[in-house]
Amino acid sequence: MRMQRAEQTTGAHIEEDNLVVGVDVGGTKIAAGVVNAQGQVSGRIKLPTDTSSVEHTLQAIALSIRSAIQAAHVPSQRIKAVGLGIPGIVDPAQGVCQLSVNLGWQHVAVKAWLERELQLPCFIENDVSVAALGEGLYGVGKGQENAVYLSLGTGIAARAIIHGRLYRGAHGMAGEIGHTVFAPSGPLCRCGARGCLEALAAGPALARNAEDKLQRGESSLLEGIMQEQAVADLRAEHVFEAAARDDALAGQILREAGQHLAYSIYLLAMIFDPQMVVIGGGLAVEGSPLIGATRTGLTHWMKQAPVFREMLSQDAVRLASLQGDAGIVGAAALAIAEARTRSFL
Ligand SMILES: [Zn+2]
Repeated sequence: MRMQRAEQTTGAHIEEDNLVVGVDVGGTKIAAGVVNAQGQVSGRIKLPTDTSSVEHTLQAIALSIRSAIQAAHVPSQRIKAVGLGIPGIVDPAQGVCQLSVNLGWQHVAVKAWLERELQLPCFIENDVSVAALGEGLYGVGKGQENAVYLSLGTGIAARAIIHGRLYRGAHGMAGEIGHTVFAPSGPLCRCGARGCLEALAAGPALARNAEDKLQRGESSLLEGIMQEQAVADLRAEHVFEAAARDDALAGQILREAGQHLAYSIYLLAMIFDPQMVVIGGGLAVEGSPLIGATRTGLTHWMKQAPVFREMLSQDAVRLASLQGDAGIVGAAALAIAEARTRSFL
């Protein structure tokens, strides 16, 4: 296996006997940490994801878990279980990842491999589901019986917590609102359909939308911003920066995206009737112009639709609170929930 350098940050020393390891498996990096029943993290570890083969990726995951336990300075017998959030379609009962485009996986028996390697009970779930569980157990959604988590980043997906439990659906994909078609003749989505919400309002879509408008000869501060920063590829953050400088083109892109995102929250509210909608993911930053545009869109739909206005208020739409630890804490929440169900925690 290729040698990998782990970035390591030690958190507060954890004394309890019942600890779990939470692992956030991403397409570019693996983050792991030791988590106690209160959701406190110690021994945070970050490793690059080695996707050169399935075996190498699994070895990198195992290494991240061992490194986190070492970095937390806890005896390994205190670790009762491991939870993992995986980007893709996951069968938690079989412990198999059926498909992960980001990892290049198809039908990988993650649970069996890791349990053999680590001699610890391991539980896997989709990464957005795990983030929803984390916010529901330890984050801003704590104490809410019914909540929807909307992940906003390079992709868009939602998950619902219903009566305190994650609602999975038949394939664990319930809430994949990012791949509902909002504009039938709109841009091609990476899933193969046209005009999905994700192809209209996720980070890469904002950049692509701006590029299209520039190519059509519309004027914008964006060209100047890219020259200033000496970058060739336009990204969502450039659109945000242009909007902050009152650029009309960037402002219009964000207004449209905000309308779509707000409409998706409207649909989620009608389908799941949550007490709270939690917006998480890389673009869920307080003061972000995309969040601002989404709030403006919500005001619009609330004016248009009295039923929606009755069911959800602006105050009930909150930003995720776990921030950088969301993936680790969420995966740990999964391990804790599964371990409690099986009465070994
Ligand atoms: Zn799609």
